[in-house]
Amino acid sequence: MTPSIPTNLLQQIASTYGTPVYVYHAEKIKQQYETLINAFSVLDIRIFYASKALTNIHIVRYLNSLGCNIDCSSINEVKLALHAGVAPENVLYTSNGISFAEIEEAVEAGVHVNIDSLSNLEKFGKKYGHSYPVGVRLRPNIMAGGNIKISTGHNKSKFGIPVEQIGELEAIVKANNIFIRTLHIHTGSEIKDADVFVKGIEVLFDLIPHFPELEVIDLGGGFKVPYIPGEKTADVASIGQKLKQAFDAHPLANNRKLQVWFEPGKFLVSECGYLVAEVNVLKQNGDTIIAGVNTGLNHLIRPMMYDAYHHITNLSNLNGTEKKYMVTGYICETDTFASDRLLPEIKEGDLLCFHNAGAYGFEMSSNYNSRYRPAEVMVKNGEAILIRKRESFDDLLKNIPA
Ligand SMILES: *Cc1c(COP(=O)(O)O)cnc(C)c1O
Repeated sequence: MTPSIPTNLLQQIASTYGTPVYVYHAEKIKQQYETLINAFSVLDIRIFYASKALTNIHIVRYLNSLGCNIDCSSINEVKLALHAGVAPENVLYTSNGISFAEIEEAVEAGVHVNIDSLSNLEKFGKKYGHSYPVGVRLRPNIMAGGNIKISTGHNKSKFGIPVEQIGELEAIVKANNIFIRTLHIHTGSEIKDADVFVKGIEVLFDLIPHFPELEVIDLGGGFKVPYIPGEKTADVASIGQKLKQAFDAHPLANNRKLQVWFEPGKFLVSECGYLVAEVNVLKQNGDTIIAGVNTGLNHLIRPMMYDAYHHITNLSNLNGTEKKYMVTGYICETDTFASDRLLPEIKEGDLLCFHNAGAYGFEMSSNYNSRYRPAEVMVKNGEAILIRKRESFDDLLKNIPA
């Protein structure tokens, strides 16, 4: 696995903007978007990019320019999408555990809303009645996803309205004459198995008759991408085919047709992103060598939080003799990016490139140890564009009275 951005361009970006630096490849995002559009061409679909994966407004704007809609997980993401110029009818707010005030704000902005609790649905009904079509997020009680931390649809999950409460849900809808346009489920992240989506939709098919005004089935996101070389990606074409078969097998009354929405985050932006860092120190440690880099869990927490594998390329020595390394961060906590990893020989000062850093990379970064968050650069048509400056010392002091 070599980066899809030429090595000399990554080196040039590192020297112009310093390290560590996040670099995103626009054409890779486009390729992923087109893969989804082709895979689902058999259905009437709309894709909403789950912008929490990477919220930089230049990325949001770029995806929107390709025709992609935007899914948000907070009112501030809604505001960022609108600020980026996305039309409200192309923005979706899938909330969980939020105050009703945020739902009111989203309605005022005119964006689509999915509600995930009976209490907020009731407040919504009392205030808006039938006037504002809305979605409900259901919990289908399905176990799916790469690991429990990113599995959201199982029978102990906090997300969504448990399907067994359908009776109460229906009572609230009837009592307040709520226009339920969308049924939503999102079962987790890193799903490669098409059957999970089919299982999800079968749960929904049982519920559809309860909602005569339904127009949309929203199946969330969670398509897996390869992290380890040779690893499987979600077979989105097969997911598309299987969903089409499932829909054909469940014809709705009066020839009603439902639109299908998806909310992929990782699938669209994971592989486009690279975190480029510099090696500060080498230490011999038995038969391995510790390579300490100038980044850590403050910038890319996935290896530590989810035990995620991130492929590493030594940009300064692509084809050298391989040795065994432990790659670690500079934070005062154990922040290991890789153990027992064979890499072309590393020297202090070399540039290491972490792959699959586009999704939940910069986005989950922090100022831990009073380090700055890195710069972000987008490469488009072979040209590097700075889309976020590295933080500076003033950023650490802003908001703090002298
Ligand atoms: C996180 C999330 C997504 C995106 O998940 P990915 O694994 O990045 O595709 C989509 N929808 C909802 C509601 C989410 O919370």
